[in-house]
Amino acid sequence: MTVKSQTQGAARSAGKSVAKEGEEILLASDMIRLGARLQVLQAETSLSYDRLSRLYREIKGCSPPKGMLPFSVDWFMTWLPNIHSSVFYGIYRYLDTYTPAKKTRALIEAYRLYLEQSSVGRAANADDEPVLSFTRAWMLIRFFESGMVQLSNCTRCTGGFIAHAHDPQHDFVCAICRPPPRAGKTRSRTARAV
Ligand SMILES: [Zn+2]
Repeated sequence: MTVKSQTQGAARSAGKSVAKEGEEILLASDMIRLGARLQVLQAETSLSYDRLSRLYREIKGCSPPKGMLPFSVDWFMTWLPNIHSSVFYGIYRYLDTYTPAKKTRALIEAYRLYLEQSSVGRAANADDEPVLSFTRAWMLIRFFESGMVQLSNCTRCTGGFIAHAHDPQHDFVCAICRPPPRAGKTRSRTARAV
């Protein structure tokens, strides 16, 4: 592994150890393989934009997509995304709290476990995109950290589900216990496949 002495991010990474940089390249590589956007890699590592986009091209064989990140809290409140995101966040919080995997590493491990769990029910469409993308999973953790969402406990099944911050919790019923009448609509891909 060669270390370029003059990159755009040189000032930012001055004095950084080679071991630390190696660790960040590993993290970034894992995140790229799971589908992370470049903005996520920039936020989670101190590697320069140039190095990250080069790493991205090496791993994916194409340039990183441009454009804004999907920045919507409301997406997490819709029926199927809410169930998937709540499962993911439950895994993340467990790993971050009870295992040596913290922060970015906990995010990566939790997302891998989420992919395993979510693929169980869709064996027929194994090549389907997961409902929750890696970038959205990352956004979700940011929404929690900035206090925009909370975990509400369902009064029927007691499970923890994502809700808007400050939503009343005393009579909260989750998306599984009370699916909306047109819940199947968001699964149109599955319906088409059938
Ligand atoms: Zn429930």
